[in-house]
Amino acid sequence: MMRVWVGLALNLVPLLFAPGVRADVFDQLQWLSMKDSHFIVYFQEERDTPIARKILREAEKYYQRIGTTIGFTRYGDFWTWDNRARIFLFASKETFLTETGQPEWSTGYVNKDAVAIIGRMIVTYRQEENFFDGLLPHEIGHLILHEFIKDARIPSWFDEGIAQLYEAGKPEQAFRAMKPLVSRGQFIHFRDLMRWDVQQQQDPFNVTLFYAQSVTIVDFLIKRYGSDAFGRLCRNMRDGKSLEEALDKVYPNTVPTLSDLEQKWVSFMTGR
Ligand SMILES: [Zn+2]
Repeated sequence: MMRVWVGLALNLVPLLFAPGVRADVFDQLQWLSMKDSHFIVYFQEERDTPIARKILREAEKYYQRIGTTIGFTRYGDFWTWDNRARIFLFASKETFLTETGQPEWSTGYVNKDAVAIIGRMIVTYRQEENFFDGLLPHEIGHLILHEFIKDARIPSWFDEGIAQLYEAGKPEQAFRAMKPLVSRGQFIHFRDLMRWDVQQQQDPFNVTLFYAQSVTIVDFLIKRYGSDAFGRLCRNMRDGKSLEEALDKVYPNTVPTLSDLEQKWVSFMTGR
């Protein structure tokens, strides 16, 4: 039945859909889809074609930007033609919740993040606010990092720090919020930070603190010691080193240990 529908729809593509749009089936759902070098965007309604096109364009832009800054795309294109990441845009929050209530969709749903990531997929729904400047770069940051380093070796703060780097205005905002707190000694000690699971946190202040602190540490590392070194840090983790072993390897004279990193970060934040 599905096969008949697809065949029929494909024949009608030139008549029915905007350029680049095709009918598609994924996980037994009917979609419209559009693709570029690294991403396929699936969407449900023709009226969302302009949004889907913009998602695709922005996703490719963030892929280049995030990949270049953290040094992933410098050594060849690791997402091959056949291996595009999938972005699903449900037509409404209701459909999203109904469809993603299925176990195969709900696995990997991230508490704080308003979308789900499963494998090389981002799942979200049509929404007006904060998508292009916030959610999309955030989730693509996670996606690229997890694609490159296998999940087990990524401390949660490092993951969330990178994810927030390209959210519009996010690092600046986090620095403004954190500086007075760090001056008063109000921050998560890096030892503790390494074990932090934000999903276990109930206190909203702690959650905000965790996110803000995370992005300032990552941003500090990149700006102070350069994105080349940061790329080497990530590659060392990809090759099996823990974050601490990788720090020692990449920053032997500056921040070889977590406590060195904490000291340098604190003095940067407080100007002392
Ligand atoms: Zn996140």
